[in-house]
Amino acid sequence: MQPFLDARFGNPSSLHRAGRQARAAVDSARAEVAALIGASPRDLVFVASGTEADNLALFGAVGAGGERAPHVITSAIEHPAILETCHELERRGAEVSYAAATSDGIITPAALAAVLRSDTFLVSVMTANNVVGTVQPIAELARLAHAQGALFHTDAVQAAGKMPVDVAKLEVDLLSLSAHKIHGPQGVGALYVRGGTSLAPIVFGGGQEHGLRSATENVAGIVGFGVAARLARADMTQEAVRLVALRDRIFDTVAAKVKGSYVLGDRFRRVPGHVAIAFSGLEAEAVHLLLALDERGIAVSSGSACSAHHRGEPSHVLRAMGFDVIRARGALRVTLGRFTTEADVDRFLEVLPETVATLRPVVTHACL
Ligand code: PLP
Repeated sequence: MQPFLDARFGNPSSLHRAGRQARAAVDSARAEVAALIGASPRDLVFVASGTEADNLALFGAVGAGGERAPHVITSAIEHPAILETCHELERRGAEVSYAAATSDGIITPAALAAVLRSDTFLVSVMTANNVVGTVQPIAELARLAHAQGALFHTDAVQAAGKMPVDVAKLEVDLLSLSAHKIHGPQGVGALYVRGGTSLAPIVFGGGQEHGLRSATENVAGIVGFGVAARLARADMTQEAVRLVALRDRIFDTVAAKVKGSYVLGDRFRRVPGHVAIAFSGLEAEAVHLLLALDERGIAVSSGSACSAHHRGEPSHVLRAMGFDVIRARGALRVTLGRFTTEADVDRFLEVLPETVATLRPVVTHACL
């Protein structure tokens, strides 16, 4: 990325040499990111985040459809980038149905079929959930939606680069990506738009990105996204096997060492490096547990990172999975990545039981 912030700083729309170099760099990054999801580079639009990709997918599809009150379906466990966009669509006249999740955090074809209608315009279901890590049966859901003539979008921000995501196999029309979830830079995302899918822009201006996302491109960010995509693709299988082994070790050891611990979301249908656990009776203490672990140099999350803006609120994902308001505060999310080592996991497994033990008396005291 560094040269594009410095010596090779050029605007890809400029015709001079620096501009042409920047254009070539953006094009080659586009090819790398497209390859990660089996797409054609011309079907990829670079945007500023996964959130923007989700906004462009939903507002763009509905805007191009031109229906005054379209029927849109999403799931009850989506990221706020989808849920809040759907709430705005409702304010603008759309009718939105929310497919229910199982207690394991799965959106089944039956749950989609229950809300799907012959006039459904668009369905959006995430590939993998950020809070509990569960992977959804996207190919089946997309097939169901298409059988009713609806478009299908998936938010693959948590899945791409960590497990195979192929737009042809999944048969999706629109798919969102974010660079920082695969060790790329923050503030870059992309939307895959299957050729022939009508989409209206949500940002107007100079017509960059086929007119779908006006604004001078974030060249350095896009270059970083391209490299991250290439690295993720190069050793995805190997890395997934390694992370699944680390993840399973965490699940097994925590179950054996910490009384009252339980897994959130389907234990096996989840992204490789995703651990979501809770501790019976300590659910309301998830934030304290997180901070206590942080004190000891271990960075974990409660629910999603966005929950930092809603501290203490129950997770809508766990609520949708049937947890009551107290237990829905209890998610401890531990995400393992390319830089997580066996030794990191050893230390986590040593520190976690001790930390949980220090919290127990606090709860007993508070209850008295
Ligand atoms: N969708 C999902 C499933 C996510 O987990 C996130 C980020 O955590 C986003 C969308 C938003 O992506 P970004 O942070 O790039 O806006």
